[in-house]
Amino acid sequence: MPILPPHRDAMGTAIREHYKKGSTKPLRVLSNMFDTDILPVATLFRTFDEMSPLEQKAIELSWGKTLDVGAGAGCHTLELQKRGFAVTAIDISSLAVETMQSQGITDATAEDFFEMTPETQYDTILMLMNGTGIVATLSNLPTLFDRLDVLLSNEGQLLIDSSDLRYVFEDEEGNFDPTEFDHYYGEVDYQMAYGKIRSEKFNWLYADFETLKQCANSKGYNAEIICEGNNYDYLARITRKTKS
Ligand code: SAH
Repeated sequence: MPILPPHRDAMGTAIREHYKKGSTKPLRVLSNMFDTDILPVATLFRTFDEMSPLEQKAIELSWGKTLDVGAGAGCHTLELQKRGFAVTAIDISSLAVETMQSQGITDATAEDFFEMTPETQYDTILMLMNGTGIVATLSNLPTLFDRLDVLLSNEGQLLIDSSDLRYVFEDEEGNFDPTEFDHYYGEVDYQMAYGKIRSEKFNWLYADFETLKQCANSKGYNAEIICEGNNYDYLARITRKTKS
């Protein structure tokens, strides 16, 4: 994905207006698959205490040189920076990046994770708030690991969260048939809207852990669940398989 032009950057505009003017205008999440949802912009500025236990765990497990991918308003980066970590934030929203810089984040750049040319390798890569989302589709999932080949240090870890969307589609008895879908059921389409600004439509991938793990294994990586939330959501750690 290219860097977003500001006039199509609904989320970045919402982030900037919230930070600069305390705006509470709703950021709407539109989808062909679900009812319109509201993303409260203030939650993008959450403090450590306001983060979910899963995210707090990710912060606590971070070590070394860290890359926060799709950092948004920069809440995780800010917390790690406070803790003395060398942390780099990237986002395709230059308005979000500008807001991170205004908050005192020293290393934030407008970059696309899939295009960036790394100047260094990272010991921890964070992808949080459904981190598999930016992969967009299941067929793209292998490219996540191609990126790790380049960006992750030998002993490094990717900490990524997602959820198994089956909970959305299950009937009352908990029955669910993934074959009823003509695509992987975790592939969702979204469009963000803020006032008159509408983003392009984009795909967003929710990956169940088994699917993520199988792909990781086939690309030379281990995947383990670190902790699970209440809605089939989980935090996973992905590391390189040691060469035998
Ligand atoms: N991690 C933040 C924000 C999550 S929203 C938090 O937990 O609060 C997802 C963010 O990913 C958005 O800010 C979006 O602009 C960014 N993004 C989407 N695709 C990206 C890509 N290819 N490279 C970098 N950032 C991306």
